[in-house]
Amino acid sequence: MTPGLLVLPDQLSPGQSALAALEARFGSAAARRRCRVLLVESSGVLRRLALHRQRLVLLWSAQRHFAAELSAAGWRIDYRTSESFSEALHRWCREQEISELHAMEPADRPVRLAVEQALARWARESGPQPGPPPLTWHPSNAFLWSRNDFAHWAAGRRQMRMELFYREGRRRFAVLLEGKGAAATPLGGQWNFDHDNRRPPPRGLEGPPPLLFEPDTLTRAVIDRVRVLDAHRAAEGLAPLPGRLEPFGWAVTRGQAEQVLAHFIATRLAGFGPYQDAMVSGQPTLWHSLLAPYLNLGLLEPLAVIRQLEEAGLRQGTPLASLEGVIRQILGWREYTHGLYHWLGPDYPSRNHFGACQPLPPWLDSLGQSGMACMDAVLRELQASGYAHHIQRLMVLANYGLIAGLDPQAFTLWFERQFIDAHDWVMQTNVIGMGLFADGGVLASKPYAASGSYINRMSTYCKGCRYDVKQRHGPKACPYNALYWDFLDRNRNSLAANPRMGLMLKQLERIPAQERAAIRATAAGHRNGAAETSADPP
Ligand code: SF4
Repeated sequence: MTPGLLVLPDQLSPGQSALAALEARFGSAAARRRCRVLLVESSGVLRRLALHRQRLVLLWSAQRHFAAELSAAGWRIDYRTSESFSEALHRWCREQEISELHAMEPADRPVRLAVEQALARWARESGPQPGPPPLTWHPSNAFLWSRNDFAHWAAGRRQMRMELFYREGRRRFAVLLEGKGAAATPLGGQWNFDHDNRRPPPRGLEGPPPLLFEPDTLTRAVIDRVRVLDAHRAAEGLAPLPGRLEPFGWAVTRGQAEQVLAHFIATRLAGFGPYQDAMVSGQPTLWHSLLAPYLNLGLLEPLAVIRQLEEAGLRQGTPLASLEGVIRQILGWREYTHGLYHWLGPDYPSRNHFGACQPLPPWLDSLGQSGMACMDAVLRELQASGYAHHIQRLMVLANYGLIAGLDPQAFTLWFERQFIDAHDWVMQTNVIGMGLFADGGVLASKPYAASGSYINRMSTYCKGCRYDVKQRHGPKACPYNALYWDFLDRNRNSLAANPRMGLMLKQLERIPAQERAAIRATAAGHRNGAAETSADPP
């Protein structure tokens, strides 16, 4: 009779709750002797969701390294590569005579469902043979707020704004506070320094280079496996996986992820704030932390990261606007979106407030050749490493999807496939909610719709663009301009209910009817043209 532990891909931490539960039950040494641990590298998911090549390498290499880490700590590890997760699980349970199965709850709902469906299918098909072992889900400890804590906070609230949640988090975990207990106040006299952090990029702005890692033997083996999978896909007539496979420089172990954190503190933390909304051609990372992929896989623990940032930031005199800004991303936004994802329930991903149904243009899948300099710069960087920073995601990619009326579900899946740090819980909230306002305003107080002038102010992209950012209709007009005004026009009845949209709707009304018709025609022309890859320059 062998207890079995299933480690899922976002749980690569020796402190994760299912491992801890077995150690607590049997004792640390006996748990290692008695239990078996399974990790599965399943390629079947790629038939449904063709992931960016670098994301696959990160996921699988980090998983292989974690298996090696557990093995070195004395755990009995079974590592399986398989087309089918469910077959691998079934076979392992039979071969190892697993009598009870344990796993930490994954953050993503579809992952939990896949495990439960695999066991249910086995139970249905087992006939007189023994069925699957019973499964115990252990509550996740990968987030500071448990799902119950979040539900308790959210229940009965009319306003679930991030800012309120974030302040509660600052108090609850005693972060960046002056004083103690109920009398504690925010360090620096205010909770949020965001207004200091919106500087446009001056000419020649350059961030410090990111810390990259040479692939080791395990990572090289995964790179080779992805190459073979790609060849099989080609032989089967399937579309190639997106993104470039090499050079691959992401951290794949806890030690490397900790080095990324230390490097961020030493070289980027102080500069994080001022230019966090800036976008610069040829500068994909600027002062961004690059920590999300590791937090989301369990290679870094959020509270430890926050404490380290706070301690180092205060010691080295980091400007509070930068220190508070990055802590808000982890203690505020990350916890909030994860909590909401589970609180809002399984129908959230199907929301479509504006009834948007425009199919995705082919240049999104081919990661380039949209003809728009801003879009192509972001897609090029995404292709190279699976990364684009938050303002590129929000104001270039998602903003385009919002104002062009792209199908929110298809666009969310596209984000899930392309990004190095993508998970279902991340993208459902960030794309459906924040980016596309498809939830009608649960996450955001207004749609983040913007014309080309926002991109022009906050980036260096427009200078080299074939389009004119000053024009809003006609063949040379910036597509973001025509689409923006057309979005307001198409949705003005539903937007009128939002007091934060009043000013923009007034500006729309001031545009003469004839010009509005020209804008409408330009936007329609762009949407139709976007269905074809990269039209010739006008
Ligand atoms: Fe993007 Fe418009 Fe600027 Fe071109 S002109 S880079 S399309 S915002």
